Amino acid sequence: MNVSTPRRTKIVATLGPATESPEMLDRLLAAGVDCIRINCSHGTQEEQRHRTAEARAAAERAGRTVGILFDLQGPKLRLSTDTELRLVGSGDLITFVGSGAAVERGDVVVDFPDFVALVTERSELVIGDGLPRFAVRDICADRVQAVALSAGPLSARKGINVTYARPNLPAITDKDVGDLALAAEVEADFVALSFVRSAADMADLSARLVALGSRARTVAKIEKVEAYERLDEILDASDGIMVARGDYGVEAGVERVPLMQKDTIHRATQVGKLVITATQMLESMIHAAEPTRAEAADVANAVIDGSSAVMLSAETGIGEYPVEAVRAMAMIAHAAEEYPVIHGRARGVHPPGSAPATVLHAAVQLAQALHADALVIPTATGGGARACAKYRPDQPIIALTHDPIVSQQLTLEWGVIPVTASLAESVEELVDQSLETARDIGGVPVDGRVVLTAGRRTGTPGATSLIMLREIPPKGP
Ligand code: PGA
Ligand code: MN
Repeated sequence: MNVSTPRRTKIVATLGPATESPEMLDRLLAAGVDCIRINCSHGTQEEQRHRTAEARAAAERAGRTVGILFDLQGPKLRLSTDTELRLVGSGDLITFVGSGAAVERGDVVVDFPDFVALVTERSELVIGDGLPRFAVRDICADRVQAVALSAGPLSARKGINVTYARPNLPAITDKDVGDLALAAEVEADFVALSFVRSAADMADLSARLVALGSRARTVAKIEKVEAYERLDEILDASDGIMVARGDYGVEAGVERVPLMQKDTIHRATQVGKLVITATQMLESMIHAAEPTRAEAADVANAVIDGSSAVMLSAETGIGEYPVEAVRAMAMIAHAAEEYPVIHGRARGVHPPGSAPATVLHAAVQLAQALHADALVIPTATGGGARACAKYRPDQPIIALTHDPIVSQQLTLEWGVIPVTASLAESVEELVDQSLETARDIGGVPVDGRVVLTAGRRTGTPGATSLIMLREIPPKGP
């Protein structure tokens, strides 16, 4: 693989106060952002609507296809506003109660009425970013007694994670319902759900999106131990997943993050689903213009393991060096792709299923065998491009579609360059259009060889039945 190959791993950047101005957005896109994350946990709906509009406007100015990912807060629990600051020592016994329960002196109130009903004997209660951490001792009526396993502070509005909670907590809260309506209104390309516990949570999300008339693709955030235990069923029920290392580290302990990450990326890529590796990737760049060597190695390892995308959170949301962070991530990812084996190639030896999927698999093999310069895949739904991306071919996958939303939904797919083009009338016109796009946008040189797919009709889902080997023509008069 040579260095002139475009970067394959995609970059997601979270928008926030540091990055919502038009000038800043222009700079972020120029630095290499492929998809913008709107984090619904922070800011008002008015701010999210404004950020989304600014991001779309910046993409338009740049003439680029950029995705928008709405990240729903999900069932996040917090300590009540009245919680007094106190330091807990290891071994201390603390009683937790739900809001509305009779409170005794010293009780810690969680801002959720049925809190106690969630807790099971094997649950642990984890505060804030991981400290203190409690093991459940006793659950009786409306009180939970827990013993501190580690020391740390309790204070108002701190997050509290309950591991192995009963599924009583709704997967999608009232706040999420409002944010989902907004995601549908602004035509978000992806919707991610936090604290997913089972495939049913994702089925709920999908059903609600359909009811809202949204075509957004779904992303399950893997950040609970239960979710990791049920990874296969969740993968089956989602269009993609996020390795959400922040909350997973809180729930499982930071030492459990690295192997969970590697295994999750592996299993997602094996079944051909997109996977975003997220949180603290360039954390020190919140305050510094350069990443640490450890951070560079972390991003590189996520890339080598086969992540479809890597994500920036606070680095771009509130950081002092958002543009530098995107640039650093782009350079580290691109350089890491020179590694001889990028993992995450889907199992390609078995027949991939449907006839069109088999044709696409054959197109990838042909491109590999002939060392073609690119794969050019016209696609009505994006499925054709995804079916190629999962094999992680050496060639860039230039995906042509006439539907801007389909194009935007390909921005997280590994190695895919999404291009929106007018709908070709005939297969012949489609071929000409594809070759010109590969040359003018995909950067394939004149006389370069590309493997192209087509169907008997244009713009028809699931109609791919032709594979062609073509050379890039010179520019016409
Ligand atoms: P968050 O999710 O940034 O919304 O918390 C990601 C994570 O927990 O890693
Ligand atoms: Mn999280």
